[in-house]
Amino acid sequence: MGAVMLDGNALSRAIRARVGKLAAQFAQESGRPVRLGILVATDDGATRRYVRSIEKGCREVNIEARTVSLPGTASEDELRRELVRLGADPADGGVDGIILQSPVPPGVDFARLCESIDPGRDVDGTNPTNAGRLWEGQPGFAPATPSAVMRLVDLALAALTTEAVDKAAQDGTLDLPRASLAGRHAVVVGRSPRVGKPAAAMLLARHATVTIAHSRTPDLGAVTAQADVLVVAVGRAGLVKAEMIKPGAVVIDVGTNVVDGSLRGDVDTEAAAAVAGFLTPVPGGVGPVTMAILLEHVVAAAFGRFTL
Ligand code: NAP
Repeated sequence: MGAVMLDGNALSRAIRARVGKLAAQFAQESGRPVRLGILVATDDGATRRYVRSIEKGCREVNIEARTVSLPGTASEDELRRELVRLGADPADGGVDGIILQSPVPPGVDFARLCESIDPGRDVDGTNPTNAGRLWEGQPGFAPATPSAVMRLVDLALAALTTEAVDKAAQDGTLDLPRASLAGRHAVVVGRSPRVGKPAAAMLLARHATVTIAHSRTPDLGAVTAQADVLVVAVGRAGLVKAEMIKPGAVVIDVGTNVVDGSLRGDVDTEAAAAVAGFLTPVPGGVGPVTMAILLEHVVAAAFGRFTL
């Protein structure tokens, strides 16, 4: 039996439909739009393109994006000054949500700079206060990508068809239950602070038994084959083969690798689809949901909340 492919594009549309409605409601109630500030200081073309895609995403859901663009040679002090400016009261020219886009210029300490972002406006969960809150089980903003991973796990467990998700997108009503993972073994491959570690914290908060694997894990396949929920965030095309997957597992492929000009995940998708129960495609899986969650966080921040 083939795996159900989890349609990240449909889920993203559904989330954004709801976000757009709530952003419009905010603007009507407060007399101003929801605002996102993006600080970018790199000459890297792919990063600049990604920022433009965030700006486009904002326009589509009634969020005003304000991008502050510095050269790739900017100093840490210059970046901090801009973060403080964006962090002013929204009535005083500040914004509701702030993203410090990586990479930052050489010699600039990304983690230290993130401490200057107010945790209540830290919509991509980069401030260490929010990282700590996540592990403590306290309310806060988690990074958008692991939040997208969890939403896709919820989609799998709810077993909703793309048609059902699309209908919810039209109504702006999709509200997936946050399922308990008690009794299930979750394996996260990758331990980066932005993806692997927060994904593990979120799975643990749902009562899964969690294993984190990484580059020093011997016999990776023996570990991943135990997973009822397998999250792969490594950055190596096709690392996870079919024989490393437990039959029927929920497999979330976070990896994005450009191979011969096309985008591929960390999972050997075609072979894995014959074994897994649910699988995210690349492209069209985690990526579009990440963007939708980022926008959701911005609108939540405008309402003074961590969730919508
Ligand atoms: P990262 O910071 O480079 O971390 C990669 C992790 O993979 C590390 O923890 C590393 O282990 C582990 N690893 C490397 N080789 C391994 C191997 N052979 N076996 C097991 N583990 C191995 O990357 P990241 O930022 O977490 O991103 C991971 C992937 O997700 C990348 O492809 C990235 O482009 C993609 N991504 C996608 C989205 C999205 O929205 N779709 C967002 C963010 C990232 P060590 O810690 O031991 O070095």
